[in-house]
Amino acid sequence: MSNLDSKVPGGPLESKWERHKFEMKLVNPANKRKFDIIVVGTGLAGAAAAASFAELGYNVKAFCFQDSPRRAHSISAQGGINAAKNYQNDGDSVWRLFYDTIKGGDYRAREANVHRLAELSNNIIDQCVAQGVPFARDYGGLLDNRSFGGALVSRTFYARGQTGQQLLLGAYGALSRQVRAGNVKMFSRREMLDVVLVDGKARGIICRNLLTGELERHAAHAVVLATGGYSNVFFLSTNAVGCNVTAIWRAHKRGALFANPCFTQIHPTCIPLHGEGQSKLTLMSESLRNDGRVWVPRQKGDKRPPDQVPDGERSYFLEERYPSYGNLAPRDIASRAAKDMCDHGLGVGETGLAVYLDFRDAIAREGEEGVAKKYGNLFQMYAKITDENPYKAPMRIYPAPHYTMGGLWVDYNLMSNVPGLFVLGEANFSDHGANRLGASALMQGLADGYFVIPYTIAGYFTGEKLPAVDTSHKAFTQGEAEVEDRVRRIMSVNGKRTSRSFHQELGHLVWEYCGMGRSDAGLKKAMARVPDLRAEFWENLKVAGSGDAFNQDLERAGRVADFLEFADLLLTDALNRTESCGGHFRVESQTEDGEARRDDANFSHVSAWEFTGVGKEPVLHKEPLVFEYAKPATRSYK
Ligand SMILES: Cc1cc2nc3c(=O)[nH]c(=O)nc-3n(C[C@H](O)[C@H](O)[C@H](O)COP(=O)(O)OP(=O)(O)OC[C@H]3O[C@@H](n4cnc5c(N)ncnc54)[C@H](O)[C@@H]3O)c2cc1C
Repeated sequence: MSNLDSKVPGGPLESKWERHKFEMKLVNPANKRKFDIIVVGTGLAGAAAAASFAELGYNVKAFCFQDSPRRAHSISAQGGINAAKNYQNDGDSVWRLFYDTIKGGDYRAREANVHRLAELSNNIIDQCVAQGVPFARDYGGLLDNRSFGGALVSRTFYARGQTGQQLLLGAYGALSRQVRAGNVKMFSRREMLDVVLVDGKARGIICRNLLTGELERHAAHAVVLATGGYSNVFFLSTNAVGCNVTAIWRAHKRGALFANPCFTQIHPTCIPLHGEGQSKLTLMSESLRNDGRVWVPRQKGDKRPPDQVPDGERSYFLEERYPSYGNLAPRDIASRAAKDMCDHGLGVGETGLAVYLDFRDAIAREGEEGVAKKYGNLFQMYAKITDENPYKAPMRIYPAPHYTMGGLWVDYNLMSNVPGLFVLGEANFSDHGANRLGASALMQGLADGYFVIPYTIAGYFTGEKLPAVDTSHKAFTQGEAEVEDRVRRIMSVNGKRTSRSFHQELGHLVWEYCGMGRSDAGLKKAMARVPDLRAEFWENLKVAGSGDAFNQDLERAGRVADFLEFADLLLTDALNRTESCGGHFRVESQTEDGEARRDDANFSHVSAWEFTGVGKEPVLHKEPLVFEYAKPATRSYK
């Protein structure tokens, strides 16, 4: 595809962004108010972008499906946000953060984007401190840091186990200031259901007012999607129940390429599943692996309570297998190791699908109080959910779907291949390659929103002719008619099965065959089943209520319908990528000791897929990845 141009600027890696910022044209401050920007999503990425645009003088319309931006899924982020400040004087630098992120992503991310991210990480901390985000401080009053997986330095800034909430309050404050100033018009309880293209450029959206059921048309000079990740394709994940693929899937159907959909992250430390009626899984932050030690009994079937298993009879398998990173091995590696233990019959708890995360030694060292200071709210959450006291007995944890590295393809300017359609945060594919390191999603979302898009959107506005378009244009009429038709179709099936039940079956299927381990045979099996499930959905779906009023059953059904279409692409991408890398583990491609075996000769590229129709083979476009600075090597944490 001719327009699959990453637009990475030339010159040395360290100066690309500076030079690019200088070379992009600026919009005259007096002209900024002539541009309207739609921002869909007001989580960290979207709120940061909307506030920054408005601060610059653009007119912004911001949308979210919750009742307030404060309820975006970003609020759930627990552990922290990375930055290369090197406050600990332990050897960190922009370069090291860049290198760790490229390596952590198993050499499947763009060097230039990742270096820019590492550079901007420091600005984010300054910005958030200025907003009053209460980051933890050390005894001298300086900002404190802890370690996260895949790094040997402490570079994670945190606000206890509520970092996302505090950062979101900061971004929400900045956004609210602009709402009050009249520069941002906030549309909450709206669900974007289509992107409108005029002359091939993104010029608006169609959304449904979730309170009244009315469809609305909104026009602008550019559309920014910051709509989060799609982990809920697995039905159960650590994400908020409302997270979905709808916005980016509908944009994909309008021509935006979807990159690396099979790069999904399974987080090693979640509270294990405890029943079929469960709607979500709960994360226990990676920060806990700073002090918690992961182990299982060495003997199969050892049913003794954990405190009666002597040290010599415990396998601290991460420390044993990966002595240099130990319990802070990256997520993909730690997840697979835990699964491996359980597959070998060494799992603990009633189901055998769990391993211990034990704070005995940390409590002996620092006392319960010391541990509570760092992780108190997480311990409380664990106790509430499991009715067990993690200060007295080790936590039980198991891997669960958590984050999606895949997303809409974007160039260096965060613009998709559709001109005027920008994608930020978890919704794009940009910076994490095949595996995201802990504490780097917040960093990316905020870098995108506060520090990248405010510059690059100006580059777009100054380089394009964007004649006025209003919502009476036929593209809006057609978009609205298609959305209306889909709503009507969903409401008219009138079958017997709930959307939840379809979602649950789809989730089981993709978790089983496209979860922690993927094989050619398994993927083909799932690919054969998904179209049947989708057909049954359209024949036997039951949705209560009506289409022209508040109807959460309808909202859910619409999202499940999109997951059922998207699953084909997820499986196709996983089948196509016959190598193992990061979170994508193809069982046919592993080393003798069970580690992922990459195939750089054939897969050192971004897979960007073009939509050709529901149930039809998508077209693959490849963006080659070139590593001039961080030369691909076998990823080792041993
Ligand atoms: C439990 C948990 C803990 C985590 N902890 C950390 C951590 O410690 N550090 C870290 O770096 N990362 C962490 N992450 C990951 C991180 O929180 C997310 O990747 C990040 O917050 C996503 O931000 P976002 O702005 O891209 O999307 P979100 O916060 O998901 O926001 C999406 C926005 O889009 C809107 N939206 C979506 N679809 C539509 C639509 N169709 N129409 C209108 N609006 C729409 C929503 O209303 C919302 O406003 C964690 C994730 C989880 C699940």
